[in-house]
Amino acid sequence: MGPGRRRKGFVLRTSNDARAERRRQMGQRRGRISAAQLRTKLRLTQLRRHALAEATVDTQRVYVTLWTAPHDEQGGKVGARWKARGLAVLQFDKSEPALDIMNPIVISTLRSWMARGLVAALFESPMCTSWSVASCRPNLRSNACPWGLSDLTRKCQAKVDLGNQEGRIALGFLEHSYQCDVPAALEHPGGSYLLKTDEFSNMQQTCDAALGKFNQCCFGAKWWNPTALVSVGSGAGNQWVCSLGKQCSRQDGVCDFTGLPHVKAKGRLCELSSIYPPSMSRKIADRLAAQAVM
Ligand SMILES: [Zn+2]
Repeated sequence: MGPGRRRKGFVLRTSNDARAERRRQMGQRRGRISAAQLRTKLRLTQLRRHALAEATVDTQRVYVTLWTAPHDEQGGKVGARWKARGLAVLQFDKSEPALDIMNPIVISTLRSWMARGLVAALFESPMCTSWSVASCRPNLRSNACPWGLSDLTRKCQAKVDLGNQEGRIALGFLEHSYQCDVPAALEHPGGSYLLKTDEFSNMQQTCDAALGKFNQCCFGAKWWNPTALVSVGSGAGNQWVCSLGKQCSRQDGVCDFTGLPHVKAKGRLCELSSIYPPSMSRKIADRLAAQAVM
């Protein structure tokens, strides 16, 4: 192919792309959504109906977990507890496009359900990979720059960008939960930089959010894992996070609760230590469910 034809092909493609982009923008201005977005929205509605059909109590509303890890771990166990109690559960575990909470159409659909009273409670545990003080080597953030240090390598910047996107979505859902009076809680590491952002402080003030901090060893875990729980909704009903767990005084010594030295979470253990102790999941699920019927 000669250089002329290549140039012609390139111009044609750009022109088509530009037209498609104009059509997409015009559709958005008119409130229209694309065929793919419509399919995702319909699939999500279908999943909500399936969950409701399996419920034996509170059969009109779904209980939602965001950033649920696959195989029912982490936040998934909160959902498992809700399911065991006969509630309708929808877990956004990215197992299919309709369950990917990073997808804008999924976000807007869930937000509209919340505004219409179709969601009873929400639990979110966004990935902490780039936010945790403990797991970040090299440092990606600091107290002065919680949204990310400048001059990061391209790989580190991508990690920070993804974390920031998740952090903003997570804070947005807490705010929206407060506005819609849907009980909601967010779990993150106790030293998470997300909790040090101005955006978090503003959300905490405007949404009257409660913040509880504890170590997971108080629930029988082998590791010290400092953990933060933030909750909003139903007036003072959200204060349960402040008394859910206790803090352990000795990171490097014998645990206040188990009487054994803490196990250092490294390598494979690091992954295991991110799974909640069962009694912690049960307590979070039960307190949020209680708040949902207040
Ligand atoms: Zn301890």
